[in-house]
Order: sequence, then C-alpha cells, then structure tokens
Amino acid sequence: MSEIVLQTADLSFSYPKGANLAFEDLQISNQQHTLILGESGSGKSTLLNLIGGFSYPSTGSVTIKGQNLYQLSESSLDRFRAKHLGFIFQEAHLLKNLTVMENIKLAQSLAGEKVDEHAIMLLLDKLQLGSFSTRLPNELSRGQVQRVAIARALINKPAILLADEPTASLDDKNTYLVIELLKALASEQGSTLLISTHDKRLKDEFQHNYLLAAQ
Ligand code: ADP
Ligand code: MG
Repeated sequence: MSEIVLQTADLSFSYPKGANLAFEDLQISNQQHTLILGESGSGKSTLLNLIGGFSYPSTGSVTIKGQNLYQLSESSLDRFRAKHLGFIFQEAHLLKNLTVMENIKLAQSLAGEKVDEHAIMLLLDKLQLGSFSTRLPNELSRGQVQRVAIARALINKPAILLADEPTASLDDKNTYLVIELLKALASEQGSTLLISTHDKRLKDEFQHNYLLAAQ
C-alpha cells in the first residue's frame, strides 16, 4: 500500500465577519496527483492556505507525512514548509531583480539545501528554459515565467506541490503544456501534485478529483 502524504480531518475555517467554510476530508497517497475543482468563491485558496500551514483552521487537522502541521511551533512550521512543500500561485512572484538561475538558487538556500547549479540547469532544460537562465523575469513570456515558477517549486523535491489556479493567466496551449510538465516533473521529483482550478478543461487530465461544493 502506498504511503499517505496528506490527510485532512474535520477541517473548517471562518473568516471574521465572513464565510464559514467546511471541507470534506482529503486523503492523498504518494503520487496520487489530485485536482481540487470549484467555482470562484468555493474555498479553493482557503483550503490550500490551510494545507500549506498559512492559516490556522477553526477546527480540524492537516497531517503531512505523518506530521500534524498545527502542532508545530511557528519556526518549526516554517522549516517544515520549506523542506516538504512547494507552491505555485496564479502569478509567479519571482524576484524581479534576480535572474532565473538566482531565483531558483534562492529557493534552495531558503530550504537549507546546498546550492546545486547543475541540478537547476537539468530542471530548466526539462522545462525548455535552458537558454534563459541568465534572463530577468521581465525578459520572459508569461508561459516561461510560469515554467520558472514550476522549477522553483520543484527544485527541493517537496512531498507535496500545492498549485492555486496555476494556469489561470495562461492561454490554451500553455495551459496544457504546463499541466503536462507539472505531472511529468512532479513524478520524476517524487512530489505529489495538489492543484486547484475552476477550469473544467483540466478535469480529464487527472484521475483524482475533489469537488468543492459551492458555499
Ligand atoms: P476560491 O479560491 O475558490 O475563489 P476563496 O477561498 O478565496 O475561494 O474564498 C472562499 C470564501 O471565503 C468566499 O466566499 C470569499 O468571499 C470568502 N473570503 C475569502 N477571503 C476572505 C477574507 N479575507 N475575509 C472574508 N471572507 C473571505
Ligand atoms: Mg482562489
């Protein structure tokens, strides 16, 4: 039986003066790439923030690789996150004064890993970015920027890669390219994907779907 990388139980979150959101339990095994589907406002970002340890739940727990996230102290949580989780957002948030290579090196050092330019170049090559390593983010197309974000998120081989609407700003061609690359590279790096989207075109790309009910 394959290892469970993520388990949530009785998870809920209330915004002050805002929505009360309750989430069905999620259980995801190693390499079980999963899509979280839901309309705008259904709670996708809220759920990913809870799973990423960014906001404390009102009830329930998030367990990643056997560790209950919210039992960790703040500094241990930061370390756990840098080591075991990767993130991709709708916008890439690259540091604009650093080159592609420097942005990814930074991700390695922040996780306490040794900087390994060779490993970075290998990953950039697989993302068709090999000749762009010395460019600045504003010298790249949107699709290229999003692929740099993928490299940055995967370089430390995270157990789980959380991606919040990663294809929202991309055209059809780049959307499918990015999804195919995410799946292939996550499998290679030993990471399990958890991708949120409102884009129903992606449904057939994943065997495991988790549908968020409208709240
Ligand atoms: P999604 O990512 O699926 O669009 P969100 O998780 O952003 O959904 O939001 C879920 C619900 O929580 C929505 O009803 C939204 O209005 C509400 N919400 C999100 N952020 C806040 C906030 N900071 N304060 C109050 N309500 C919020
Ligand atoms: Mg959202």
